[in-house]
Amino acid sequence: MTALFGDIIGQERAVEILQKAVVAAHARDGSQSMVQSWLFTGPPGSGRSHVALAFAAALLCDTGGCGSCHSCHLAKRGSHPDLEVIRTEGLSLKIDEVREIIARASWEPSSSRFRVVVIEDAERLTESAANALLKAIEEPGVRTIWLLCSPTIEDVLPTIRSRCRQIALVTPSTAAVAALLIREEHAPTEIAEFAARASQGHIGRARFLVKEPKSRARRDEVITFALELSDVAGAMAGAARLMEIAGLEAASEASERDEIEREELATALGAGGSGKGAPSGSSKALKDLEKEQKSRVTRATRDSIDRALLDIATAYRDVLSVQMGASGGRELINEHLRGEIEKRAASSDSEGVMKRWEEIMATRRTLKFNVALLLALEALFLKVRF
Ligand SMILES: [Zn+2]
Repeated sequence: MTALFGDIIGQERAVEILQKAVVAAHARDGSQSMVQSWLFTGPPGSGRSHVALAFAAALLCDTGGCGSCHSCHLAKRGSHPDLEVIRTEGLSLKIDEVREIIARASWEPSSSRFRVVVIEDAERLTESAANALLKAIEEPGVRTIWLLCSPTIEDVLPTIRSRCRQIALVTPSTAAVAALLIREEHAPTEIAEFAARASQGHIGRARFLVKEPKSRARRDEVITFALELSDVAGAMAGAARLMEIAGLEAASEASERDEIEREELATALGAGGSGKGAPSGSSKALKDLEKEQKSRVTRATRDSIDRALLDIATAYRDVLSVQMGASGGRELINEHLRGEIEKRAASSDSEGVMKRWEEIMATRRTLKFNVALLLALEALFLKVRF
């Protein structure tokens, strides 16, 4: 058994397939278990990139993923010389970036038998970028292994996915996530169980809820607001407040890294200069960096709003299960807000709550496009007020 797969929870089927592939790759028996390109799909938080990275490390390790050798340590940190991990922080992955990746992917492996490229957000490939990638994937050089990740198989061009073996990850069970939080984050049982329920199987989100008490408070604020929302002024104020919360979260995530990147760029440009002032092209590089950083904040803001909308959806689900009498013996997702949820359940009908749930999901879909966030939220909250 590959030690690296030990901390993958609730994905027994996927691990079994990957395990066979690792054995075949190391046995060099040309078996069908190992192929050159893979597509890891699964809902956000199911651990797509985590699983892909473990697989990459197992392929790079001489003994199939011992978890303890130098190669395994480097791969787990993402700094193995034969491993490329591509993470898009912006809204899309463009052709220039993909061309660079392909060029590097064609190098000979330095210390392993393979070069492995992990693309974490394959759904963000632009069409031209995807076509460039397709050519590389079709290249018969067997030394480069491509591991693509996306939420669903439909998020990737048919031409690409038809050349990949799909590994479909499932949402891990609440019990499995809670156990992980207790084991790895040393969370108290009650908080671990809450975070597992509230995150709906999204492991990263569950960890964040455990580690950041402020995020739990913000979550409660958003849910209470949605349950009590009734007038137009409240809808407008709520939309503005949610924008504010999302902006704060995105900015605090980004600010430290932005600073480091600016310093790194300044150093790089300074080192390449001839001493007669800034080398030409430096202002373009700086502009590019600023553009990238801005698009990263935009994406983080959108992600944060999406999470808040999902949180509201869990409250509606709780209201529905109270109304349908299904919550008697079972815990609500937001058990700690049971009072507010029961109050709302008593003063609304389930058909109306279901409609509100659908409105939330519809808005989440439109947020994927470049819509004006505040306007979209105002429109939503006007529709879902009680
Ligand atoms: Zn190893």
